[in-house]
Amino acid sequence: MMGYTHMAVGCALWTGVRALLPGPPGSLPPELGLAALGSLLPDIDEPQSLLGRKLGFIAWPIKLIFGHRGVTHSLLALAVTLAGLAAAAGAGLLPVAGAAAFWTGYAGHLAGDGLTTSGVPLFWPSENRVRAPLTFPTGGVVEHLLAAGLAAALGWTLRGYWPRLPLP
Ligand SMILES: [Zn+2]
Repeated sequence: MMGYTHMAVGCALWTGVRALLPGPPGSLPPELGLAALGSLLPDIDEPQSLLGRKLGFIAWPIKLIFGHRGVTHSLLALAVTLAGLAAAAGAGLLPVAGAAAFWTGYAGHLAGDGLTTSGVPLFWPSENRVRAPLTFPTGGVVEHLLAAGLAAALGWTLRGYWPRLPLP
């Protein structure tokens, strides 16, 4: 899945989860930033990904050691990320909702890649790939339609946060 689709999936998931939780609605925009960041993190194993292009010094070694869609796309990575975020939230470095948003983005990434033909090695180090019964190729028409639909739905859901334009 492409980076933009991952961000759309992560943000849509967090918007849905957030609607069920208490808390000031004004904190949603920064939480969406964290959900988007979490949704990009698993592809730190690919130097050509959105995040990998910015952090090539991290992306290249991970790709060389584990390969793309390796350990960062596993339940192990999901558990390690959860533990790290829980520690950060416990130490007061991150609001609990922000940590949950980040983790939701990360989990959404794995689910999203599981919808693609290549699947994900959820049970790494086993090389067996897990994928949905119906899949689509990364970067194909279905993925573009999914990203556009999610972006439009998010834009509509978040319309209350848009800046008020001074109208004549
Ligand atoms: Zn991925």
